Amino acid sequence: MNYQADQHGYYGIFGGAYIPEILHSNVEHLRESYLRIMNEESFRQEFRALLCDYAGRPSPLYFARRLSGKYRTRIYLKREDLNHTGAHKINNTIGQILLAQRMGKQRIIAETGAGQHGVATATVCALMNMQCVVYMGETDIARQALNVRKMQMLGAEVRPVNSGNKTLKDATNEAIRDWCCHPDNTHYIIGSTVGPHPYPDMVARFQSVISEEIRQQLTEKEGRDAPDYLIACVGGGSNAAGTFYHYLNDERVKLIEVEAAGKGIDSGQSAATIHLGREGIIHGSRTLLMQTEDGQITEPYSISAGLDYPGIGPVHAHLAATGRAEILAATDEEAVQAAFELTAMEGIIPALESAHALAALAMKTFRTEDIIVLTVSGRGDKDMETYSSLFERFALKLSSK
Ligand SMILES: *Cc1c(COP(=O)(O)O)cnc(C)c1O
Repeated sequence: MNYQADQHGYYGIFGGAYIPEILHSNVEHLRESYLRIMNEESFRQEFRALLCDYAGRPSPLYFARRLSGKYRTRIYLKREDLNHTGAHKINNTIGQILLAQRMGKQRIIAETGAGQHGVATATVCALMNMQCVVYMGETDIARQALNVRKMQMLGAEVRPVNSGNKTLKDATNEAIRDWCCHPDNTHYIIGSTVGPHPYPDMVARFQSVISEEIRQQLTEKEGRDAPDYLIACVGGGSNAAGTFYHYLNDERVKLIEVEAAGKGIDSGQSAATIHLGREGIIHGSRTLLMQTEDGQITEPYSISAGLDYPGIGPVHAHLAATGRAEILAATDEEAVQAAFELTAMEGIIPALESAHALAALAMKTFRTEDIIVLTVSGRGDKDMETYSSLFERFALKLSSK
């Protein structure tokens, strides 16, 4: 079984590049260039150096002693929350800005939901002195004022989007429209393993530094290069793709993906795309998609803005269809509970997205000798308002136990 993209960008029946004619030459140019450029020695050196000196890699692989005690197994946390800008997203934006420079582009556009990818993109644009436009839905702009200010301070123009639900899907549509109008000088930095080929494969490769480091760090700490389980949350699927990358064909390792069940998978307010989705095409890719009987995209819901997307990276649709990965779904409630638990037990406040991965620990039974590596995709600073509003319920629940 092959879990990597074939040369046309398909993972089984999922993936491909379904794009308007006007973008064809752009996407084709990217497809012809990305592997060649990524394999150039000068690119690899510059990418490595920035990941290390600028983003702060390698991120630690931390043995969570108290959490392990509670779940009676051995849990390591891959600390992507300690990266510059607070999440794994910087790995991808560093990679893509270096690529854009080598392709002779002067202008960068991006879409953002919570603003995390927008901030990571604005950050590398400041670093490389590139023009930066970030599309963001008006609903998200209102919810994420701090990230909007950060992007502006970094020199980016944040363009409000007022179509549809005024959230991530709509911002993505606007970014694609912009790209259609400026095909020559503009590179579109997509923030996850979604979009037309080669984006899902390219983003997975930039994020694969996560599993490369896990392999090395686990060897140093445990004398074995593979864990029994890898656990990650999935929105579009980039931190999960990076966590799994070097283990996809390693059948010793069980892969667990956790999507956002929102208020419950069957509540009508959910973002559990793999559970609820049917085959369709969104943003240039054939994948699983939350949609109505007649193919209209259903608005997703999750407490965590980063998981609030109606599609899913095609690689994850394939990992689910083949049974290679087990797909769990955590509700808002379960995720918040897990976030308060990690904070109280390990002194780490996780992003709400990452809290969904943590919620998987309570859903599974592990053996005491199992080694679990769970990716903490980001830190919780951006979610403090949400946590504060739930404080009484969750913090008191923990301290009274
Ligand atoms: C954006 C984001 C996610 C979801 O994106 P993926 O592409 O699925 O990784 C998860 N965690 C954090 C902290 C994020 O910022």
